[in-house]
Amino acid sequence: GLKTYFPLTRGLVFQRKIGDIRAVDDVSFSIVRGQTLGLVGESGSGKTTIARTLVRLYKPTAGQIIFDGQNLASLEGEELRKVRQRIQMVFQDPYASLNPRFTIGSLIGEPMHIHGVAEGRDVHERVLELLRVVGLRPEYYDRYPHEFSGGQRQRIAVARALAINPDFIIADEPVSALDVSVRAQVLNLLQSLQRQFSLTYLFVSHDLSVVRHVADRIAVMYLGKIVEISDRDELYTAPQHPYTRALLSAVPIPSPQIEKQRKRIILSGDLPSPINIPKGCRFHTRCPMAQDICREVEPAFEAKEGREHYAACHFSERVAQLGTN
Ligand code: SF4
Repeated sequence: GLKTYFPLTRGLVFQRKIGDIRAVDDVSFSIVRGQTLGLVGESGSGKTTIARTLVRLYKPTAGQIIFDGQNLASLEGEELRKVRQRIQMVFQDPYASLNPRFTIGSLIGEPMHIHGVAEGRDVHERVLELLRVVGLRPEYYDRYPHEFSGGQRQRIAVARALAINPDFIIADEPVSALDVSVRAQVLNLLQSLQRQFSLTYLFVSHDLSVVRHVADRIAVMYLGKIVEISDRDELYTAPQHPYTRALLSAVPIPSPQIEKQRKRIILSGDLPSPINIPKGCRFHTRCPMAQDICREVEPAFEAKEGREHYAACHFSERVAQLGTN
């Protein structure tokens, strides 16, 4: 499993190590080419650390990252740079991710120069083509980021990510900073680009209702671990982990009738610190189903009824009793 721990040191002088922040604590998953894996969890669950570890913004403490047969965890220098070119990130905040002093044309063209995918007039042509592909006008080429809305800026950031023909895109909360009215447009754009360019996505979000629109499979993270992973529809209809069930119960349903009948599961307490992860099942301090064994024995992450549906809970067969959506 993949682990990313950040050593925690106290004091500038002694740098005495007092523990590790176990941001990503032994997780294993795979993403099918051409599909979208949604990675869901509260802030502090480790999902952004996974995303950043996959592109080697962080070096993992242990484990492998296999991308097209190569282990990214052990690559360095030129080899790493080459593979990273095939993986691009789209971030949450389109205001922070675009340098305000550059025109849209140079922002989208810059990665092409850096990675040598196009030169001279070709760059100009390709930028115009990308503007069209993400639904922006050619005359935006000479304008600056501040002239655009959040949704348009995110389209520009997506065009920039596409500039060097990646295979894999990691989108970290790509619509969370946008107005609700433009979220669906950006999500639709991402989906149509996926079909057009055979892209594979890791879509990171705290919001299950957003992930539902885009993901083929969904992984749910809690305190550095993936506690459940399954096909999207099965995760929504038959969750096998009480944490997933609780998250689903908080997703608003646009029907007052159903909203009235459904059972909300309110989790008690706060997310524990990743320095001090609870013994046994890490969710036991907040789980409405916890028993004695949960405080002692960590549940295995195992397939439920032989399907491609995995969960880490001693009592997953009882999750349905927590009530239905
Ligand atoms: Fe809850 Fe126990 Fe299952 Fe953990 S193992 S999720 S504490 S029931």
